[in-house]
Amino acid sequence: MKEGHNMIKKNIVLTIFIILSIFLSNQTVFAEKKLKVVSTVAPITNIIHNVGGNRIDLHGIIPEGMDSHTFEPIPSDIKYIAEADLIILNGMNLETPTEKLAKSRSKKGSKILKLGDNTVTKKEWLFDFSFPEDKGDPNPHLWLNVAYAMKYAELVRDKLIEMNPENREYYKKNTNKFLKKLEQLDKAIFQAVKTIPEKNRKLLTYHDSWAYFAKRYDMKVIGAIQPSDFAEPSPREIAAIIDQLKKENVPAIFGSEVYPSKVEEQIAKEAKIKHVTTLRDDDLPGKLGSKEHTYIGMMLDNMREMIAALGGKADAFSAIDPSNIIED
Ligand SMILES: [Zn+2]
Repeated sequence: MKEGHNMIKKNIVLTIFIILSIFLSNQTVFAEKKLKVVSTVAPITNIIHNVGGNRIDLHGIIPEGMDSHTFEPIPSDIKYIAEADLIILNGMNLETPTEKLAKSRSKKGSKILKLGDNTVTKKEWLFDFSFPEDKGDPNPHLWLNVAYAMKYAELVRDKLIEMNPENREYYKKNTNKFLKKLEQLDKAIFQAVKTIPEKNRKLLTYHDSWAYFAKRYDMKVIGAIQPSDFAEPSPREIAAIIDQLKKENVPAIFGSEVYPSKVEEQIAKEAKIKHVTTLRDDDLPGKLGSKEHTYIGMMLDNMREMIAALGGKADAFSAIDPSNIIED
């Protein structure tokens, strides 16, 4: 009887020991193997988060609300870049100072993934108002076209799987869920654009970030106010824009959250048209941690503002949930 008791005791101790060691070894495995990923603009960081979830250690270096086109990394960013296993950029010359730093300061064995350059060929690059061909830098804003955002998610998934095959199924599952949501968003944008009177399907924006969006969803970018050096336009350029707006008869112009502009206000006033100031391309809406603080949330906000100001209906977006894919 006593012996039996001892056996049970021994078994309990052994079981506890086994459970503890599994727990501890798992802890170290996860702590050791979490890929350190550094990215740049917030919407791209959010796309990466939806693929990598809590199995990667992700840090976006460009603060929200900051101009990503003229961003220069600060000393504390260098530390993140130097420790990163993977540095993910939009590319297409958007983050040139960060890219240079990534090439010179990243650790041995680390990788750089340029999403834009792997999504389109140079032939598909668009040059336009603020990104003229003679300056050499293409319009880099691919991610406002949801089909390209889907490609970004797939590129991230493939790179994470390549570098961290143990989590293959997790990355795949997250990506599939995320792609389904993006597909829903893409369809809704097509539907909503169709509700805008045809003559109004034109965009004149302050920041020139809608080129690839317009191409996909059958809208026309008729101009951008921001010159290619990111300063304000000259009085002559302003007068020309006002003339154009009167001629094209568009109902609204669109400013950007990141670039508040007095000039844009003046243009809207003189052309006597509506002035929407809240479009975003590298800044997420809502507070950090709120469910709309996502890439999808940003697109939904943009679409609701844009479609309504041009005389369309935004009902197609009501069923779309902006929140992140969370998979433990
Ligand atoms: Zn931009």
